[in-house]
Amino acid sequence: MKPFLIIDPGHGGNDPGGGSNKLWMEKDLNLKISLYQYERYRQLGVPVMLTRRNDQTLTPSQRTKIIRESGAVYCHSNHINAGGGDGAEVIHSIYGGKKMAEAIAKGLKDSGQNIRRVFTRTLPGKSKQDYYYMNRETGSVVTNIIEYGFADSNRDDITQLSLYYKTYAEAVVKAFCEFAGYSYQIGKTNKLSPKKERKRYLHLPVSASSWRVYPLNAVPVKGNEKGYLNPRKFGGLRYEVIGSTQDHVYIIETRDFGKVQIYAHPKTNALLSEK
Ligand SMILES: [Zn+2]
Repeated sequence: MKPFLIIDPGHGGNDPGGGSNKLWMEKDLNLKISLYQYERYRQLGVPVMLTRRNDQTLTPSQRTKIIRESGAVYCHSNHINAGGGDGAEVIHSIYGGKKMAEAIAKGLKDSGQNIRRVFTRTLPGKSKQDYYYMNRETGSVVTNIIEYGFADSNRDDITQLSLYYKTYAEAVVKAFCEFAGYSYQIGKTNKLSPKKERKRYLHLPVSASSWRVYPLNAVPVKGNEKGYLNPRKFGGLRYEVIGSTQDHVYIIETRDFGKVQIYAHPKTNALLSEK
């Protein structure tokens, strides 16, 4: 069966993508978002395919050929932005109109991400040609380039994308289904609101007088500290875990340093609990 929608995880293989930082490579996050959406669309009965399903290199011409020849009506081209802004952007072709792009942007906004802009752009001096090849070379497939946020944001995109990329991926699924006339239901295993997840708390033992914390946009290793917590001084410290960036590395919000990463392997005597 021909797909109705094709999902394109931007970049891949030897092209990591510019929307990368110390926490992720753009190609990997694009793929995670896309694989998540692919499974959700299948659950919802939307005929769907992917341009790549692993860490594969695709040249622009290979990529656009897959899309043109897919028979799909629509394409999501998933990306993470760079360049120092904050918020999501949706780029549509000068052909095909902006309605789908606006629906996607509204979905992202409703899920908690701010929208920087919905726009279209032409090649310099060529008012009839789209600037971006994903818009220009994908034939009759209505392609939206979705930039979920900025990898180098100095506002909240790095935290938001680390914690909530699935929420944003789901928001696009919901917006697309509603726009295209497919009935939408929340999946069994995913929750739209990250706040509904079971809370966990991190306890730092009173025996420790100095505990490193790291900024969200740095690798949590010695030398990158944002500061030190002093559990002893407070008779031990307790924080709600608001995310995790890798095994045994958690995101907590501290009074003095704001949202930070903290390394808390069981052998450090830190304790995780639901209270
Ligand atoms: Zn990209």
